[in-house]
Amino acid sequence: MAHVKFYYGDSVPLEMHKARIVQKLKLLPIEQRWEAMTRAGNNTFLLKNRDVFLDMLTDSGVNAMSDKQQAAMMEADDSYAGSETFSKLENKIREIFGKEYFLPAHQGRACEHILSKAFVEPGSVVPMNYHFTTTKAHIVLNGGIVEELYLDEGVKVQSSHPFKGNMDIDKFQAAIEKYGAAKIAFVRMEAGANLIGGQPFSLENMQEVRRICEKYGLLLVLDASLLADNLYFIKKREEKCKKMSVREITRALADLSDIIYFSARKLGCARGGGICTNNKEIYQKIRELVPLYEGFLTYGGMSVREMEAIAVGLEETMDEDMINQGPQFIAYMTTELQKAGVPVVTPPGGLGCHLDAMEFLAHVPQVQYPSGALAAALYIVSGVRGMERGTLSEQRDAEGRETLSNMELLRLAVPRRVFTLSQIKYAIDRIVWLYENRHLIGGLTFVEEPRVLRFFFGRLTTVSDWQAKLVARFRECFGDSL
Ligand SMILES: *Cc1c(COP(=O)(O)O)cnc(C)c1O
Repeated sequence: MAHVKFYYGDSVPLEMHKARIVQKLKLLPIEQRWEAMTRAGNNTFLLKNRDVFLDMLTDSGVNAMSDKQQAAMMEADDSYAGSETFSKLENKIREIFGKEYFLPAHQGRACEHILSKAFVEPGSVVPMNYHFTTTKAHIVLNGGIVEELYLDEGVKVQSSHPFKGNMDIDKFQAAIEKYGAAKIAFVRMEAGANLIGGQPFSLENMQEVRRICEKYGLLLVLDASLLADNLYFIKKREEKCKKMSVREITRALADLSDIIYFSARKLGCARGGGICTNNKEIYQKIRELVPLYEGFLTYGGMSVREMEAIAVGLEETMDEDMINQGPQFIAYMTTELQKAGVPVVTPPGGLGCHLDAMEFLAHVPQVQYPSGALAAALYIVSGVRGMERGTLSEQRDAEGRETLSNMELLRLAVPRRVFTLSQIKYAIDRIVWLYENRHLIGGLTFVEEPRVLRFFFGRLTTVSDWQAKLVARFRECFGDSL
């Protein structure tokens, strides 16, 4: 997106791409959306895509590809071993990250599976700036402990800290003293810290983390899944990086990391993943796990078409006009909502706009899942599908008691290059309306509660007839509008 000042109206983010393939969308009338939500057990994961207008569930695997990516997919070289396509991707990784060895894996969590299997044993500790669901699950599965060392500011909903994803260096030092360096399997830095709202860390913070890792002989692993957003924020917000190119910033971060892994469902706008390093011993240690769990070393569970698209997508990520599109749309959405008084996570991050359901629905107790209720309500009044990130996404403890989440968020992901600004404006409009009618929204309770990953498959019902009242109020206000 270009930095273009407008003459007549307020400046808005300006897309530096045009749509040449489109997909038709349908917006059902509110009564049908209510029925669809009921059929889905008030769980947005269980909605059918055909019933959704704007799918803001996730940015994973749903980013728009470029013409060049599509073209590259046509010339993919299919072979079990030694495909030309793999060499292309390997060379692109070498060029961008400066890492000699590349191991493919089918998506981000597959890399986490392999790294945890290789480095984590019972009693191991993995310090990190913030956890991600799949990362934590794999580390815990191997008997490890996740030690989160986020800034206190990082979990404050409203903040002006430019790098809420930074690791707290004092906490890092304290963790090393507490556990001893020998217990630490590796240190993990997550770019664009997902669960606190796609919040970046600074290059300076990464340098400090590296300094300490070197002092104690610790491996530093970069989760680069949301690197594109983090690169943009470093360039935009970190004074001494303003003159660096995106490529230079990428290389500086890569040079500080012993191992980099990524989900190409996000980074590179395709579907896949991989691990790279310059350390031959590490490479040899993890290499044998790839054919065992993923596939042969030159595809690792990915289709060659996707690998072609990733190679091009990584190159496109080095273009500031490309990586700023997501964050600028999110900043627009967040700022407009803030102006209307809607509680949102600030500063705006990458990945999506996050509504603060704890405040939005202060009258709904956490055991009635305010973020889940808000997700259901927003879908009903707009056809926009978001993702609950709160108590519903937690697991009950051993005694069956709820684990209350420290944040109740509704995440509205903005997949890269997918939506237009008028669609974002529509979403903002309906959110503001919902906020003004928030007193009508009530809680949810489980009717079917799976023991694990309940947020994926669980079904819920309303604690009162609040949805009927919400639909009636909508009709009163909007007449026969969709
Ligand atoms: C999505 C994500 C992952 C997992 O990647 P998948 O491709 O979904 O398995 C890991 N880390 C971060 C930061 C992510 O956002």
